[in-house]
Amino acid sequence: MCGIVGYIGDKQAAPILIDGLEKLKYRGYDSAGVCTNDGEKFIVEKEKGKIEVLQQMTGKGKKIAGTVGIGHTRWATHGKPSKENAHPHISQSESFAVVHNGIIENYMELKSELIRKGVKFVSATDTEVVAQLLEYHYNGDVLDTITKVMPMLKGSYALGIMYREMPDEIIAVRKGSPLIIGIGEDENYLASDVPAILDKTKNIYRLDNGEIAVIKRDGIVVYDLSGNVVEKTVETITWSVDAAKKDGYEHFMLKEIMEQPKAVHDTIIERIKDGRVVLDEIRLTPEQIRNFDKINIVACGSAYHVGVVAKYIFEKILRKPVEVDVASEFKYRDPIVDEKTLTIVISQSGETADTKEAMKEAQRKGSYAIAIVNVVGSAIAVEADDVIYTLAGPEIAVATTKAYSAQLAVIYLMAIYFGDILGKICKEDYKNYVSELLALPEKITDILDRIEDIKNTASKLFARKDVFFIGRNIDHALSLEGSLKLKEISYIHSEAYAAGELKHGTISLIEKGTLVIALATYEDLHEKICSNIEEVQSRGAYVLGIGCENRQHLSHSADSTIFIPKTCDMMLPSLAVVPMQILAYYIARFKGCEIDTPRNLAKSVTVE
Ligand code: GLU
Repeated sequence: MCGIVGYIGDKQAAPILIDGLEKLKYRGYDSAGVCTNDGEKFIVEKEKGKIEVLQQMTGKGKKIAGTVGIGHTRWATHGKPSKENAHPHISQSESFAVVHNGIIENYMELKSELIRKGVKFVSATDTEVVAQLLEYHYNGDVLDTITKVMPMLKGSYALGIMYREMPDEIIAVRKGSPLIIGIGEDENYLASDVPAILDKTKNIYRLDNGEIAVIKRDGIVVYDLSGNVVEKTVETITWSVDAAKKDGYEHFMLKEIMEQPKAVHDTIIERIKDGRVVLDEIRLTPEQIRNFDKINIVACGSAYHVGVVAKYIFEKILRKPVEVDVASEFKYRDPIVDEKTLTIVISQSGETADTKEAMKEAQRKGSYAIAIVNVVGSAIAVEADDVIYTLAGPEIAVATTKAYSAQLAVIYLMAIYFGDILGKICKEDYKNYVSELLALPEKITDILDRIEDIKNTASKLFARKDVFFIGRNIDHALSLEGSLKLKEISYIHSEAYAAGELKHGTISLIEKGTLVIALATYEDLHEKICSNIEEVQSRGAYVLGIGCENRQHLSHSADSTIFIPKTCDMMLPSLAVVPMQILAYYIARFKGCEIDTPRNLAKSVTVE
């Protein structure tokens, strides 16, 4: 997530910091700020909104004194975008300044403890707790204090830290979120990504997890958690600025596909405590949950497809009727919605106009609206009665991948949480669901490790003209997303069809060479989908089957197969979607398409 920069040398720091932040803009952000040390005190300037605002406030940094400083572009995860929540964060007595990328998962406990001890907080972020903890535990030795505080922090983080009394050093800490150190001559840099410093130096150290770097003007020393010095190797960057932005990946879409284990992990991890799903961010009470007689899901595009998956899951587990609507249709059909209806809206950007209008319509009719949103403080997040954030981080590619996966993860959390309240989940199932949910990131990684095989499959299929995605039950819901992914980036005509429905008309389109992608992950209907595979094959189709490991039947029926690890039925979509994303990506790439910005599409659709 977002951007950290740091500079120590003999030049004025702030212009360099702001220039570095500008180069990290592509990562997505909602506020920006810098802090320098002028030898006596910290000077902090930060503001919500574009970097241009910060540039104007500070004369592109020229108004801020000091030759050492840290800067940050924030993508809010805890606390809405605002001046107070923007980084850097300063401790109560202004002894520590901190910038942070990532999430401190246990910040609430730490914060409550510090508040009990009299510490006053000014922001709603998880980050401020780090600055306050450092000041509270300061023992006369900055490095030692940081080493003692680090084990108290759960989660993934990269930190840039300054101590007021030591204007000659910046300390960088990495656990999870990336961090690099740029090596200059009598000056050094800190950044969360290469583009920030590429025009200053090409020589870098990459910090590994658990490493702490003390960065001075004339040297850098890296330590491990036990205080031993680590010998780092200098890496020389040969990437172009554009390749650097994508972490070496050719496209943001591929980078984001690879980030899915983290997106799912971050979305679930704070919400599972001692083996229980805890959704304490919502105000909806157990009593309200018991009183709803219907659930209504409204969304657009891929988020709508998450809704269709959710319908299968909620109806099966909660035994309550679920309706899913495309948001642009919902409002105009005078939907039957009232105070006994729970409305769930899903939107990555939180600004999707159709979804927002549909939500308002449901609220007007008395329905309680929960939003599943990625962008903190966005319009839908603010106007909903409750919001559950996906913690996917900024998504740049127009075709969604990691946000879709994070939305699914929220659906599972809701199914388990609601199911438990409604008394529909036995103890054993509950335990199994939670452990499968926790295992999802690793199973997604398993599939990503086989990316070359899927690329190879794509190389044989990219010239096809028409593709059908077929599946039954939850596999049908998933086929909708597989088909959309393919068509939106590769421009190949494709359709998702309920496998059993094909023979009622559309099968007439199947001819020699038509590609059919058959989803066969759902065990109960395995034989039925295998019969559908044979139906289309006998009319000339070439079938690629996607199913769970060890399904001999599928290997025999389909012309080629991609296997995914097993999980409980409800969570199969999170695994099966990954090969379909990779397939769509490589098919588009072999065709030479503009992958991150497909024609006619926008990332955030703010018109109705
Ligand atoms: N979790 C922190 C916040 O919300 C940092 C987010 C980031 O990586 O920008 O302030």
